[in-house]
Amino acid sequence: MTNDLLGRHRAVLPDWLALYYEEPLEITHGEGRHVWDAQGNRYLDFFGGILTTMTAHALPEVTKAVSEQAGRIIHSSTLYLNRPMVELAERIAQLSGIPDARVFFTTSGTEANDTALLLATAYRRSNTILAMRNSYHGRSFSAVGITGNSGWSPTSLSPLQTLYVHGGVRTRGPFASLSDDAFIAACVDDLLDLLGHTRPPAALIAEPVQGVGGFTAPPDGLYAAFREVLRERGILWIADEVQTGWGRTGEHFWGWQAHGRNGPPDIMTFAKGIGNGMSIGGVVARSEIMNCLDSNSISTFGGTQITMAAGLANLNYLLEHDLQGNARRVGGLLIERLRAVAAHVPAVREVRGRGLMIGIEITKPGTDEADPRTAAAVLEAAREGGLLIGKGGGHDTSALRVAPPLSLNVAEAEEGAAILENALRSIP
Ligand code: PMP
Repeated sequence: MTNDLLGRHRAVLPDWLALYYEEPLEITHGEGRHVWDAQGNRYLDFFGGILTTMTAHALPEVTKAVSEQAGRIIHSSTLYLNRPMVELAERIAQLSGIPDARVFFTTSGTEANDTALLLATAYRRSNTILAMRNSYHGRSFSAVGITGNSGWSPTSLSPLQTLYVHGGVRTRGPFASLSDDAFIAACVDDLLDLLGHTRPPAALIAEPVQGVGGFTAPPDGLYAAFREVLRERGILWIADEVQTGWGRTGEHFWGWQAHGRNGPPDIMTFAKGIGNGMSIGGVVARSEIMNCLDSNSISTFGGTQITMAAGLANLNYLLEHDLQGNARRVGGLLIERLRAVAAHVPAVREVRGRGLMIGIEITKPGTDEADPRTAAAVLEAAREGGLLIGKGGGHDTSALRVAPPLSLNVAEAEEGAAILENALRSIP
């Protein structure tokens, strides 16, 4: 059945629509932190469809909200008042920490970043953008042009002028051996050097923790230090919270808060988890920035009632059950457990992350040389053991990514860690 579907997939869909696993999975249903494939195999889900399942699979509260809304009306999001959109925007504006915030909904993270670029370039009358090396912001014509991860942007001929800044990756590159403070100082010098040789940029866009890049992060405070430099020059700071938002990192509700000394970003983008699988993205910005566009709406489907109803129910559940606290507690246990396992596996160079956003870097034992083949083998072995995880990384896919739904409990964390331990130990 699945094989037939695979043949049909390959015959009609683009070659670059990549599928995980030598024998790709057809997921047919899910519940809690588990999913099932078409053959009836059950998997513990530690990737949530790339962090889209934020709370839990088939969460009854979300399912009920979606089916009730579907029974009333499914409609476009423009032209008429939209109660769930107003309600979700109010909640997100308040949670964002951005003063006088306005919210615009899109259908994806890519579109959210496109909109952020539209706003920043229009507001600043500049098409120069600062972005981070190794970053990922989407693959539309403009988002691919600010994506520093070369594996994802090889064919980009973007109309934007993009300058890439050091700092998103702590453990690689020319500043890796420095102390945290010296690392930050070197990255600020790099930024100042770039600024000395370019037209005034519109904005710096950055993921607080690089997602596709393999869950790598700078030392806390880097973006606060950048902010000082940017603010003096009127350059905007866009935080891409597509992977880091909604309490995923445990300690903070937004990833930027690890760098919040100089206040919230000017613009924030979000997507993935908020819809618990329904397609919601969005932008939050101070009203003077959001309202610098004087055109009509820019999306027919961004913020439809059905996605907004899902988002509201999902967000309520997250807040009422303190899933951020759960991410901190259970994520803390999980990372400790994985570090203990890694100490006995020479191919693991590093286990990093915070909350339920954990990266495992695989290298040739005892070296810094990335080992994407072994990482892929561990991904396969974990699946054999009944665990779904993700992969990622900079110029090579040598990091394993662990990002379960935020309702993960301790027993499931233990179970997943044990499967991952077997998978890592199975490396020849
Ligand atoms: N920004 C970040 C940080 C992402 O990880 C992604 C998706 N991996 C995007 C933007 C693009 O989001 P989407 O795939 O929903 O368009």
